Amino acid sequence: MAKIVVIGMGQGGVLAGGMLAKAGFDVAIYEKSPKGAVSHDWHDDIRFDIFEICGIAPPSRENYTQKSKWLFVSPDEKNSLKVPPAKPMEEVSVSRRGLSDHLVNIAVENGAKVFYDTPVDSLVLEGDRVVGVKVDDEVISADLVIDASGLNSPFRGQIPAKFGVPADSGKNGIMRGWRGFFVRNEEAPTPDPESTLYIKHLDGVGISWCNLNDRNEVDVLIGRIGEKLTEEEQRSCLEALRKNHPILTDKMVKEGKWVDIGVRCTAGGLVADGYALVGDSAFMTMPIMGSGIEASMKAGKWLVEHILEEGVKDFSAENLWGYQVKYFDELGADYVFIDVVKRWALNIDPKEINWLFGCGAVTNDDMALLSTDTENPVKLGVGDILKKVGILLKNPRLIGQAIKWLLRGLRAKSVANGMPEKYDMRKVQKWQKKYDDVIAKIERGE
Ligand SMILES: Cc1cc2nc3c(=O)[nH]c(=O)nc-3n(C[C@H](O)[C@H](O)[C@H](O)COP(=O)(O)OP(=O)(O)OC[C@H]3O[C@@H](n4cnc5c(N)ncnc54)[C@H](O)[C@@H]3O)c2cc1C
Repeated sequence: MAKIVVIGMGQGGVLAGGMLAKAGFDVAIYEKSPKGAVSHDWHDDIRFDIFEICGIAPPSRENYTQKSKWLFVSPDEKNSLKVPPAKPMEEVSVSRRGLSDHLVNIAVENGAKVFYDTPVDSLVLEGDRVVGVKVDDEVISADLVIDASGLNSPFRGQIPAKFGVPADSGKNGIMRGWRGFFVRNEEAPTPDPESTLYIKHLDGVGISWCNLNDRNEVDVLIGRIGEKLTEEEQRSCLEALRKNHPILTDKMVKEGKWVDIGVRCTAGGLVADGYALVGDSAFMTMPIMGSGIEASMKAGKWLVEHILEEGVKDFSAENLWGYQVKYFDELGADYVFIDVVKRWALNIDPKEINWLFGCGAVTNDDMALLSTDTENPVKLGVGDILKKVGILLKNPRLIGQAIKWLLRGLRAKSVANGMPEKYDMRKVQKWQKKYDDVIAKIERGE
């Protein structure tokens, strides 16, 4: 069977590696971090049904807790909206290291070989084809290299331009932030909801949150998009949060960490000859809200399903193309639309957001749009919509802007949907140019 190398223990890559090993492929997974230090030392949110979707058991019970309930606060902090909670344990907060170990154990049980503390230095190419990786100056040959090395993958930049794999994320593609966990002030009452998210906190382009989690830690995140969060800004945001949240002490549970979070739409090229991207390395997060764990696991599953269903033996871009088509059909094209909305939110004056929060056009019930409850989707009657339009018409400038950005979003989504179903390099390149152009235009605000 063919030889597969997975770079990095990104969730989607490890899941794919395990599935391929189960199907009999010779799989080797290389991770630069030592055993026990892979992924983050904290919990993040996922939908629990992702395990069933991926056909694997969930990690053991001590690895997850109920996801917190959220309150969104306007930039002037005068108005707030609550996100209605999904059903109990529908969305959970999962230990990142627990999840990582769980996926690796499954991969190993299925026959994959894993190498910790072993960074991949570079890809090895023969002509335009990836034929392996370099580890410790040794060439490891592979029929397919799966790049699951995360947001700042240096390997994308080695792929020949003709495959349309972008080298970097672009200006507004990364939220740079700081995350820290503090001891809870036991004297202060438990907040309800437990989590508060500030939009354009202190008028910065980004968010801050303060969340009392199920492990009785106060989780703080401060993030900025398109601009670097300075230490001074981080300190003033932290101070501002402390004033509003008596539970937040200045004693840390563990050291804070500077982090990058992907917030851009998916790359226009996910495959090349001998190479496929899975997860953050291909910007597979939902712009604004994240959900990169689920997106990367789904992508890993779809890549393997495509390989097995089509009986792929030669891992050329052409033969892997069906994976990219599936990803864009299911998630990628919608994420482009959301990316456009995100860019509008970045450009909009904080005063307009204050008005939107306070005018009554958006209610707590509408915030269910941000929850992932699939059984109780938000239903808006004609009367509700007319009432909202009536309120919004009081601010024609904002309505004008909203319509403009909505049309841009629909145009971008229709470009994404126009991806060729069958691989023809000339047609694929034409589509990739159109896709990249539409993103670049939106980035420039055109
Ligand atoms: C603060 C923060 C909060 C988040 N919250 C959520 C959330 O609530 N829900 C959610 O779904 N997502 C969340 N995300 C996003 C989520 O972490 C990612 O989208 C998701 O993990 C997918 O990333 P990945 O697995 O592709 O890459 P990563 O998790 O970055 O994994 C890449 C792996 O590759 C390894 N690696 C890198 N280079 C090399 C190399 N040269 N050789 C070998 N190994 C290498 C790294 O060490 C790492 O282990 C959050 C991210 C951050 C930073």
